[in-house]
Amino acid sequence: MKPITILAPGTLHLPLYAKMYEMLGNTTNIRLLSLDSWLREQVEFPIQNNLSLLYQYRKQLSSLSAANSFFESREDYDFLRDCLDFMSKFFLYELSIEDLPQNTKRDKDLLEVISLLKDIPRIEQAYVSTDFERLDLSGLWILDKNYSIEEMKILERLKKGGARVLKSIDEISGFSMDAANPSKDLKTNPDKDPLSESLLPINRYYWSTSNPRTQMEIIADTIITENMSAEDIFIVLSRPEDASVLSQVFEARKIPLTLMSEPSISPVLSQWKAALLFVADKSRENLMNLLKELYPQTSTQLRNYMDLFPEGSDLEHLEYTPNPLISEFEFENMRSMELQMQPWLPIFEKMKTWKANDATMLDIGDLIQKANPSPSEDDIRIFDGISRLYGDVRSEIHSELDLPLLIRHLDSLYPNSALSECTGVLAGSKKEISPLHKTVFYTGADAAHFPAFSMNGGIFDEAYMQKIKKGYPSLSDRLSLQRNALFHSLEIPKELYVMVPQADYEGKSSDTSYEMFTWMNAHPKFQHWKDSSWYIKPDFSLSEEISSQLFFPEKTFNASLSSLNAYDMCPLKHMLQYGLKLKKPYVLEERLEVKAEILKDVIESSNLWYQRPVWALSKEEVRFLVSRQFEFARKVFKDKTEALEILELEYVQKILEMVRILRPITKKLNASLIPDQAKIKISENKDGMQMDIEGFVNRSSKNRTPFLLVNPENGETSGSCEITPDSDQNDRSAFHEAMAALDVSLSQKPVQNKAFSISMGRGKKPVCANEFTHEQLDQEFITQFLKDAIKGQNMPETDTFEGEVIRKKTPSYEKTVEQARSAADDFIKSLSHGCVLPLHKANACKFCAFKSICRNGSQERTQESTRQAFAEYDRKNELAAKKAAKADHRHPVEASDHEDQDLNETERVNRIDASPVI
Ligand code: SF4
Repeated sequence: MKPITILAPGTLHLPLYAKMYEMLGNTTNIRLLSLDSWLREQVEFPIQNNLSLLYQYRKQLSSLSAANSFFESREDYDFLRDCLDFMSKFFLYELSIEDLPQNTKRDKDLLEVISLLKDIPRIEQAYVSTDFERLDLSGLWILDKNYSIEEMKILERLKKGGARVLKSIDEISGFSMDAANPSKDLKTNPDKDPLSESLLPINRYYWSTSNPRTQMEIIADTIITENMSAEDIFIVLSRPEDASVLSQVFEARKIPLTLMSEPSISPVLSQWKAALLFVADKSRENLMNLLKELYPQTSTQLRNYMDLFPEGSDLEHLEYTPNPLISEFEFENMRSMELQMQPWLPIFEKMKTWKANDATMLDIGDLIQKANPSPSEDDIRIFDGISRLYGDVRSEIHSELDLPLLIRHLDSLYPNSALSECTGVLAGSKKEISPLHKTVFYTGADAAHFPAFSMNGGIFDEAYMQKIKKGYPSLSDRLSLQRNALFHSLEIPKELYVMVPQADYEGKSSDTSYEMFTWMNAHPKFQHWKDSSWYIKPDFSLSEEISSQLFFPEKTFNASLSSLNAYDMCPLKHMLQYGLKLKKPYVLEERLEVKAEILKDVIESSNLWYQRPVWALSKEEVRFLVSRQFEFARKVFKDKTEALEILELEYVQKILEMVRILRPITKKLNASLIPDQAKIKISENKDGMQMDIEGFVNRSSKNRTPFLLVNPENGETSGSCEITPDSDQNDRSAFHEAMAALDVSLSQKPVQNKAFSISMGRGKKPVCANEFTHEQLDQEFITQFLKDAIKGQNMPETDTFEGEVIRKKTPSYEKTVEQARSAADDFIKSLSHGCVLPLHKANACKFCAFKSICRNGSQERTQESTRQAFAEYDRKNELAAKKAAKADHRHPVEASDHEDQDLNETERVNRIDASPVI
């Protein structure tokens, strides 16, 4: 009994074995091999992998003359890879050095390269010298498919030795135990060239679709409506990037799918790469990348720490001192980071000692194994592959300079050609069309992707190859061979669907392939596909019950000015922040940042140290006060003294500038700036609900610090200011404690200065360019500066330029109270109906931490969007009411309908417009 060998690509082994098992049961006399593996079995040649060849080539090219134009590239991975491919052809086509081009300097330089490389033996030499024609290959079967030109060249020789082509999968059932003599009724004719034989599929369809996605939808629908068996289907993906769309579409319909080159989700490959990159170059960037790859969960924390403290820290015994750079909360965070870093320190120390040697490889392997305590099969396979690869070339690696070839070559480990499992529909490239599958869907067959024949590129491009005198087939011969092989493979399946998307995802139109059009002898037929929207907008509403529990417990309403402001920015954001109390994620800033409170600290310490107000201090004195504020930061960030000094100078300048600009106002008003806040308090009964609103009108935040303008001569030495509008409106004393409330920012935007203005010569004015005076420029600067830096409340008239700029955009305390009342009114009205739509103000989303919650429901607030949203909202409420009414066996629907009919259109619109978000 002679065993049978079927030559098939590794990607098809698993489905082929499954088919054989189905047809023959347990079979022991048939084996599957790839052409490459079979050839290696036939020749006596030491195992040689591409990576060790690359190292040998690199060594060989070290003797390249310095005048050679490829001298600088002699160690470059891409250059060596091109050489590797060319030398394979050189031996396979038995080219001779004399026939290679020698016309130009480049040709001669390449000749020198090839002359050196040809001394390194290649397995292709053994293939050429083996007399396959004289072997008994009667037990050898070649799976019919689209082979490359080089493969065809060898296969032709095997066929001469008696190998046969497996054209139909049914032929396998004829492989009796006497395998060398398959049944007589097989239609195989070993003498007939499969490439010249047309099998013509019974059904051919040529379809066009609107875009690549609809093409996948149509395939999925066709499989379902035609009730096709998933195992009989093969999908050709002309564009590998369509694989994810195909997976999504099939997943939605629960059609099983196996991708032949599925991207690996194993972290092992990238971990090895990151580790070897770090060994080759111990840069900070590579270390950060290694941490990210090895410890994705903790790496953010680790990287944050290392960004903040590149040389380590010693915070354990440091006592916190209030300062404007590091808050106590931040300091505690840094301390806990330092604590968490302790177990990592020995690892980092070890990493720093890594060299290109076996001990380091063991170390890396150990870390990777610890980082993946439950490895998947893929993880193990990749780990094993890399270990073997290193084993093959370890004798070539003597220093870090030898690592780049190994690192670059790791990419070729994936995707793996062998499938670890195979279920349902198989999707791969045109090279895998075979008799295994009755139905083939060929996707993306537009002019850009079909026929897409391979041509020579890189250093040994077509221009070079065409100049080879003899031995290497001409371009037209190679194209013709590829064309025949491709169209032959399209004739293998019983059913062929060729799909052409008319446009890509960006809407750029795709052209029909002329080759396909000629072969099909027809234009593609457009297939309609109705998109059932998958993107249902999320619904944002609260039941009245939940709404009152969250916002109006026991018929009371307590709010702060900032919560009302948040509601005004976006009702959903408000609900998440103040209703559900979701916290924004805390991110420790890795850059040094000075909080606006430094201005307050300097103003306060001015009297203490110099018994003079800050505006009367010299620059050196201000510098001293600022420097004191930086003392604690200097103890924490010991290795950032330079950065702190620059920051210190910057803030001295900013404070001096702020004082210079505010001074005319305080002088005019005879007032002092006192660091404090003005509080607003509203307490009243609203339609049976107790409403309490409290909040500061001037804010205190990271970027802003609050001040009150008070007149010490009027006895206003305290900064406290409480605004309570319940007091008699005619008695304004409550508003008078502080003249004005300001909040000041020191992080201003840069101000652009104009050089001159041009008069266009209209009327009697001549055409001319006018320079700005220093005063004009200063005023422009101050205007812009004040607009950005200062927000005021209740600013009195001052007759000063600076004061007027602030006053123009300043509401009075009364106005603020009025606004707060009106906002609270709107809030109560809307929230009592559970309305929390993400109808946001312009720019509200820019820094919003809840983007991932509102998703595609977010909409900028306009008259129209509000109207639509609330109409939809009302409609839903009505529907809910109807349902509830039905459940109660009552008929309030008619009543509510009548109620609504009683309103005219204007009232109806007004009712919608009364919503708070307009
Ligand atoms: S991202 Fe915009 S719409 Fe969404 S919650 Fe935030 S502010 Fe509202």
